[in-house]
Amino acid sequence: MAFLDPSQAKAHLATYSRNDGLSVRELMDSQKQGGLTYNDFLVLPGHINFPASAVSLESRVTKKTVLKTPFLSSPMDTVTETDMAITMALLGGLGVIHHNLPAQMQADMVRAVKKFENGFITDPVCLSPSGTVADVWKIKETQGFCGIPITDSGKLGGKLLGIVTGRDIQFRPSNASLESVMTQGADLVTGRSGITLEQANDILRDSKKGKLPLVDSEGRLVALLARSDLLKNKDYPLASKKPDSKQLICAAAIGTRGPDRDRLRLLAEAGLDIVVLDSSQGNSVFQLEMIQWIKQTFPDIEVIAGNVVTREQAAELIQAGADGLRVGMGSGSICITQEVTAVGRPQATAVFAVAEFARQFGVPVVADGGISNVGHIAKALALGASAVMMGGLLAGTTESPGEFFYNEGKRLKKYRGMGSIDAMDAGTQKGQTKVDEIDNAATSRYFSEGDSVRVAQGVAGSVADKGSLKRFLPYLYAGLQHSLQDMGTDSVAKMQDQAFDGTLRFELRTASAQIEGGVHGLHSFEKRLFS
Ligand code: GDP
Ligand code: GDP
Ligand code: 5GP
Repeated sequence: MAFLDPSQAKAHLATYSRNDGLSVRELMDSQKQGGLTYNDFLVLPGHINFPASAVSLESRVTKKTVLKTPFLSSPMDTVTETDMAITMALLGGLGVIHHNLPAQMQADMVRAVKKFENGFITDPVCLSPSGTVADVWKIKETQGFCGIPITDSGKLGGKLLGIVTGRDIQFRPSNASLESVMTQGADLVTGRSGITLEQANDILRDSKKGKLPLVDSEGRLVALLARSDLLKNKDYPLASKKPDSKQLICAAAIGTRGPDRDRLRLLAEAGLDIVVLDSSQGNSVFQLEMIQWIKQTFPDIEVIAGNVVTREQAAELIQAGADGLRVGMGSGSICITQEVTAVGRPQATAVFAVAEFARQFGVPVVADGGISNVGHIAKALALGASAVMMGGLLAGTTESPGEFFYNEGKRLKKYRGMGSIDAMDAGTQKGQTKVDEIDNAATSRYFSEGDSVRVAQGVAGSVADKGSLKRFLPYLYAGLQHSLQDMGTDSVAKMQDQAFDGTLRFELRTASAQIEGGVHGLHSFEKRLFS
């Protein structure tokens, strides 16, 4: 047989009648009689002409919010409270604070996230000169900082007389007056109101001070700047922040019933940016009314609605005004919904169906549940999701709520479904009675508040220690960059365009292919995921 000219190999490919793999639509259509999960398929490799570190993972998670890291943590009481929400945002993702607790406690968590980092602190805690060192220690204990401007009125807007910082109160008796310890006069470095954040940061840097009070032409305090914020900005270049205030973006979940409107009022007061409507079946009249009410009452708060798994469900929520959709029903690691209710959908099919429909309206989709490795994240994004939401994968990190414990020599943390009896009980214990269980996340998410028999849709268990999120999330991030590099695409946006125009190729994975794709044939092995 005469060989073809090797220099024409690429040109020949274009005339070749057989394509490798399937387009994403062919992949999905090949399964008309059944849905796919992430493990059922693979993505074929593309052409690499860039380093993995050059891959941008930036992605739009709601109509208006773009994240540098397309990862969200689930609103579950063993996953996301203040620490998780702050760390997720610092690393470029988003933590969604759960609502299985009294509204005021949830609002305090939102406030703590919003206060964690600032550009100009426009509502700094102030004291008056007659205050004492003990007052400052108290603020340090409750709010975490002790750089306090001293004004004549003890309030913002009062005439600035001095500033007290940690060094000023060290070794001082607690009854000493602030007037006697504060830095004042010529030692007090201030900036004038009206300067830009860059200018203020420059003064702060050059002054070598920890704080910079800003005053107006009459010496009245208008804002404060903290050096530690410059450091946070430098240490966390991916952080999810509001462009003007430089505060971290904060999301929280609520239910869809009457009392949830009061809850949202408190969260809005605390500075909430994104609300997630937490329901296992999002296509309900409660949710549609809730979206419309939120859009009218709090037009600046974006709404991620859900959960949905079909185009029909999605259409209802998109039309009601959702800014993003959360996709998944029964795919969570702690979930028994499909067993109990016979309702749900395999997650890969659900993500594709909803994302393909929603992208036409510019509504991003979050793939929620069933993510147990980096490959699953890559597949969810390749199917059109803008971001993934993870519960079990993050529950074992230091930043999740709860303490580690040992069982048979393994260091573990508790992880439970929000539809587990365990979570329902906890929601009721935290200050709620069975009568107002409507405010209980664990029951209202599954429409079971007020039922005489509680039907569980989740289990309670434990997960292995994953160390700090500050190491684990960068591993997921770097892993995902490698995945996109292998696909031959250097950004999430390009990968999705390629998936939908048929350039990115997929292949089904038979049962034996799945065995082949895992570790096999070894006597024993240790699976270390990163170092
Ligand atoms: P970038 O930080 O250089 O990517 O640009 P930005 O637009 O985010 O920031 C503009 C200015 O604000 C720069 O001088 C930043 O150093 C500063 N900046 C950014 N984040 C913060 C923050 O959290 N606090 C303070 N004080 N300054 C910030
Ligand atoms: P301090 O030196 O003890 O005051 O604390 P740091 O400067 O290390 O940390 C203060 C952090 O709290 C910064 O990130 C501020 O943006 C943030 N913060 C939020 N609200 C306030 C406030 O009212 N006063 C002060 N001093 N910091 C605040
Ligand atoms: P994971 O990341 O652990 O696989 O799944 C987390 C997701 O499972 C959550 O974001 C939420 O959508 C869902 N979920 C949480 N608790 C329950 C539950 O008790 N039952 C069901 N069906 N889903 C749950």
